[in-house]
Amino acid sequence: MFDAGAFIRFVRGLYGQPEGVVPLHAPVMGQMEKAKLAEAVDSTYVSSVGAFVNRFEEAVATFVGARHAVATVNGTAALHVALRIAGVQPGDRVVTQALTFVATANAIAYCGAEPVFVDVEEETLGMDPLALQTWLRRHATVRQGVCIERASGRPVRACVPMHTLGHPARIEAIAEVCAEWSLVLVEDAAEALGSRRNGRQAGTVGRLGVFSFNGNKIITTGGGGIIITDDEALARRARHLTTTAKRPHAWAFEHDELGYNYRLPNLNAAFGVAQMERLPALLASKREVAQAYAQAARHHGWHFVQEPAGARSNYWLNALRLPDVAAREAFLQATNAAGVMTRPLWTPMHRLPMYAGCGRDALAVTEWLADTVVNVPSSPLPGAGE
Ligand SMILES: *Cc1c(COP(=O)(O)O)cnc(C)c1O
Repeated sequence: MFDAGAFIRFVRGLYGQPEGVVPLHAPVMGQMEKAKLAEAVDSTYVSSVGAFVNRFEEAVATFVGARHAVATVNGTAALHVALRIAGVQPGDRVVTQALTFVATANAIAYCGAEPVFVDVEEETLGMDPLALQTWLRRHATVRQGVCIERASGRPVRACVPMHTLGHPARIEAIAEVCAEWSLVLVEDAAEALGSRRNGRQAGTVGRLGVFSFNGNKIITTGGGGIIITDDEALARRARHLTTTAKRPHAWAFEHDELGYNYRLPNLNAAFGVAQMERLPALLASKREVAQAYAQAARHHGWHFVQEPAGARSNYWLNALRLPDVAAREAFLQATNAAGVMTRPLWTPMHRLPMYAGCGRDALAVTEWLADTVVNVPSSPLPGAGE
C-alpha cells in the first residue's frame, strides 16, 4: 500500500508549509508585474494595440528561437487559429493523442474537423510516433500529395501532438511520419514552454507551435496564448485572423474573411513581459522540485515520472504513477483530505461524450496512464524568480 502519510509529510517539508492548502501550481508574481501593469495603464493602451503585445511576442520568440510569435487571448484560441492557418477545413480529419487536455480536441472541432485519437508512449506521455504511423497505414492513403482517410474519403490534414505535463514528445520521429504522409505538424506545447529535445525548444519543430499562459501554466498572463512559427506568411495570417481579419486602413472597417477577436490585450502582455523575465529562474526552481521528488521517490519506492531520455523537461507538473486505479483513488482521497492538492490526469478524449464517436486506434497506454498517474504539487519553491 502506498504510504500517503509519508508523501504528505514530504510535500509539506518541501514547500515549508506545515499547514494550509498546498496548491498544485501557484503563479509567482509581484512588484515586477505590478510595475509593468502600471506602465500599461499610463500608456492608455489597454486592449490589443500596444507596445507590450509586441514586446511580449518578441520575448517569447527570442526565448524559444522562433522567427515569429503572435499572442492570443488564450492557448485554445491560439490552437484554433494555428489549425485554421494550417489549412484545416470542415470535414477534415486531424490526428491527435487521446491523452490530452480537452482544448486540443476542441480546437480541432472548432474548425469543423474531426479529431482522430492515437495512443501515447509510456516514456514521454506524448504521442507515440509508431501509433501515428500504424493508424495512417491502416486507414489512410496519399493521393496527389493529400492524405485521405480511405473509409470517409476525407483529407487527414494535420497532426497535433501534445507535450504532456511539459515532457517533450518524440517530435522528430513524429515530424518524419508527418512528412511521409503530407500532414501539417502543429505542436500543442501549451504545457511545455522551456522544454527541449536535442537542443530544439518544444513548439519549434512543427510548422506551427502553441503555448498557453493560463494561470496554472509555468508563466502566466492571467489568460493568454501564443502561436509561434518560422514562416512569415503564416505569422501574417495569424495576426490577420486574430484581429477580425480587418484590412489595414486608417478608418475603414473592411474584413476580407471570417476572423476572430483573439488578440492578447496589452494589459495581459505587460504582465507577460515581467513573467518572461522570471522564466529562467522558474525553470531552475522547477528542476529542483523535480529532483527532490525523484530523490524522495527512490527513498520511498514511489514511481516518479522522469523526463524522457535525451530530453529536458520544464517539469511543469510533476507526476507519480500508482500501481492501479484503486491505489490512485486512495491516494487522491488521502492527499486532498489533508490539504495537499493532487489531481488525476484528464479523462481521455475518446471517453468524452462529444468525441466518443471519433476515429481511434488501440489506446492501451492512454487508458493505463489515465488510470494510474497523479499530478502532485509543483509550484516553484518559495522565493524562486524573485
Ligand atoms: C492549457 C492547455 C491548453 C489551452 O490553454 P488555455 O490557455 O487554457 O486555453 C491547450 N492544450 C493543453 C494541453 C493545455 O494544457
